[in-house]
Amino acid sequence: MDKLLHGVVIIAICCAGCGAPGPSSGAGEVFSAGIEGFNVIMISLDTLRADHLGSYGLNRAVSPFMDRFSWRCFVFADVMAQSSSTMHSHRSLFTSTYTRKAIGHLPAPDETMAGILKASGRRTAAFADGGMMSKNYGLSPGFDLYDSRLRLFKRISAASRDWLEEFSREPFFLFMHTYEIHAPYDPPSPYDRIFQTRTDPQHLEQIKALSANIYSCDFARASGEFTAIIENLYDGGIRYTDMLLERFFRYLHDRGILENRIVILISDHGESLGERAIFGHNRLYQVQLQVPLLIYVPRSAGRIVAGSFQNIDILPTVMSMLNIDPGDRRLEGTDLTPWMLGKVPPEYGRFRMSEVKKKALHGPDNWKYILAEDGSKDELYHLSDDPYEKHNLLDRHSEISDRMRKIIARKNEVDPAEIRTFVTNKADFVLKRTTSRDKKSYNERRKALERELRKLGYID
Ligand SMILES: [Zn+2]
Repeated sequence: MDKLLHGVVIIAICCAGCGAPGPSSGAGEVFSAGIEGFNVIMISLDTLRADHLGSYGLNRAVSPFMDRFSWRCFVFADVMAQSSSTMHSHRSLFTSTYTRKAIGHLPAPDETMAGILKASGRRTAAFADGGMMSKNYGLSPGFDLYDSRLRLFKRISAASRDWLEEFSREPFFLFMHTYEIHAPYDPPSPYDRIFQTRTDPQHLEQIKALSANIYSCDFARASGEFTAIIENLYDGGIRYTDMLLERFFRYLHDRGILENRIVILISDHGESLGERAIFGHNRLYQVQLQVPLLIYVPRSAGRIVAGSFQNIDILPTVMSMLNIDPGDRRLEGTDLTPWMLGKVPPEYGRFRMSEVKKKALHGPDNWKYILAEDGSKDELYHLSDDPYEKHNLLDRHSEISDRMRKIIARKNEVDPAEIRTFVTNKADFVLKRTTSRDKKSYNERRKALERELRKLGYID
């Protein structure tokens, strides 16, 4: 069975005994009493693709803590990120707007999740892992405190604990973000060898050094062995992050902070790990867009939530749970509480859109259209038949292509040149982040990387 589809089946089996909520006429009967007064902790695990969690079907112990935690959560089985670029995706997430609109202007505080929760009387703070999450990328409006100077999740969770010590007795919204899973896939020992057990340490260090520039290399003929090593290191990063999360949650539990707090675990995008000979993100293939979404609501039974969701749905869902009136705000996401309450039939479908250099439209009938906009060929896939998007059906189904192009045209529009500028910045950031002490140019680095990989026998 295909891995992506397999994941959904496994969740369904695991959650059969989780105790879905019974019939209800209102949110209060299923959610905890007084939920509108709850505080919110949201944690963004950058670059975590959904199918690399046990709770989404991976048959490997990469996330033992998150898997246990998921049993107490609403687990949304099919969630699409709005972009596979970190800053774009978070801008969409924070404002519940599709990416081009989200990056088209600097949001006012009352347009952001933090600003809305602040206006509801909550103190707001963010501890983010720098880079494209830096304060100057338009992510901070609405936060009383936005600290993006920290690096490493260990420090971010320590700073969050310090902040909670001071403010957890007041109403609050806390946002945390980490790049621990992001390239370079270099988790600390022993997490680098948990899944990669048969490579000698010197060789592993060579690969880890190369993985710093993995986004820039042509892997059309990469060997299976190389792909497996990278995937093992990626999974090691998840396992390391899972351990740090467990420590942080133990603190929350011991201090009684999990009482009356909604906790949301998300990711901004997934990652290609050799599929279509691609590593990294900034494309619109499913492995880069399907992300996990777990929502913990104290004293509510966890359950699997079937349906088609996207990250821009999170803000309206949080507002609904907290009984915050959207007023005349134009949120493009959908309130998911009816799905959490089991009130929407599972066959409900919708169009969802993701954007980076191109636009992808996901239809309710499993069709996916990628509009190129850069002169390359558009792409059309039928995902239930072809989940890894290997067979472009553009020329065989022109009527479906026409229909989906028209739907894309009705969505928001911002000059594509603008989005390209952001993507270029992102590439530069990755390069600077991973090779900050190296003065060589991007192209020189890429050529050197390809030479090294060829020498090691990983590409032809
Ligand atoms: Zn990211």
